[in-house]
Amino acid sequence: MTDRLLAVDVGGSRVKWGTAVRGEVREVRSAATERPLAALVRQVAKVHAEFPADDWGLCVPGTLDSKRGVVRVAANLDLRDVNLVDALAEAGLPRPAVFLNDVAAAALGEAAGGTLALLQVGTGVAGRFVADGRVVQGAGGLAGEVGHLRFRRGGLPCPCGSAGCVEAYAAWGGIRHRYAERGRAIATPESLLDDADRDQWAASVLAEAFEALGFAAAALVAVCDPGELRLGGGVAQAWRERLVASVRQALDASVLSDVAAATRVTRSELGDRAGLLGIARASGFV
Ligand SMILES: [Zn+2]
Repeated sequence: MTDRLLAVDVGGSRVKWGTAVRGEVREVRSAATERPLAALVRQVAKVHAEFPADDWGLCVPGTLDSKRGVVRVAANLDLRDVNLVDALAEAGLPRPAVFLNDVAAAALGEAAGGTLALLQVGTGVAGRFVADGRVVQGAGGLAGEVGHLRFRRGGLPCPCGSAGCVEAYAAWGGIRHRYAERGRAIATPESLLDDADRDQWAASVLAEAFEALGFAAAALVAVCDPGELRLGGGVAQAWRERLVASVRQALDASVLSDVAAATRVTRSELGDRAGLLGIARASGFV
C-alpha cells in the first residue's frame, strides 16, 4: 500500500496522468501522445520524474502481455511486440505496480467496484465488462474487443489489418481517415454533427458510425447482461445524448427484450479520470 500513486494513461491521441491520493485523482494533466517508441518512453519518463510518488501504474491501448510488460499490438500507437516496461526500465523507470489495457482501466474506474460494461469510443473502439469490481478478461485478456467485430462485409480497411470493423466506421481515427480519403478535413468529433446537418455525405458517415456502435453495443450487452452500459471516450463525450439515444434504440431492436429492458445506457462523467482511477483500483490503491 502506498500513499501516493502516479497513474499514467497512454491513449492513441493523448497521454493523461495524475496522482491518486486517498481514492481521488488529483493534478490531472494531458499532452499529445509522442511517437515513435523512443519519444513515448522519453515522454513517460519525464512525467514520472516530475511527479514524485511512492509507486506508479501504466495503461496503454491494444493487446498486452501484462505480466511481461509487452505490447503485442497497439495499432493506434504503431507498436507491435515491444517490451514497453523494459524500454521504460532502460530509461531509468522502476517497474510499474500495474500495467494494463486502457479500456480495462477505464472500465474499472467507471465501475467503482460495481458491475457494468463500458463501450469506449475514442481514437479506437473497444469494450470491457467489469463484474463486482473485477474486469472479466477472458482466456486471452481480450474479452470485450467489439471494436473489431466485422460490421460491413467487404467494408472499409481497419488499422487491425482486417476490413469492415466497427472501428473503421465509428472511431475518431476511422472518421478522420474517411474525411482524408475524400480530400476533406475534420477538426473534432463535434464537427461531424455540424457537417451532418449541412451535407448528405457527412450525414451518411454519422449514420454509419451510429449504426456500427449500435451493433457493437448490442454484442457487448447480449454477451454480458451488464445491467448498465456506459459510453465513454472522446467521441462519445462529443456526441452525448444523440449517441445514447441511438445505442438505446439499437439495444431495443437487437437484444433479447428482457436483457435490453434491464440495461441502462449512461454516459461517462469521469472523462479522462476514468483510466487513472482504474489504474489506482487495479494497483489496490483504492
Ligand atoms: Zn479492425
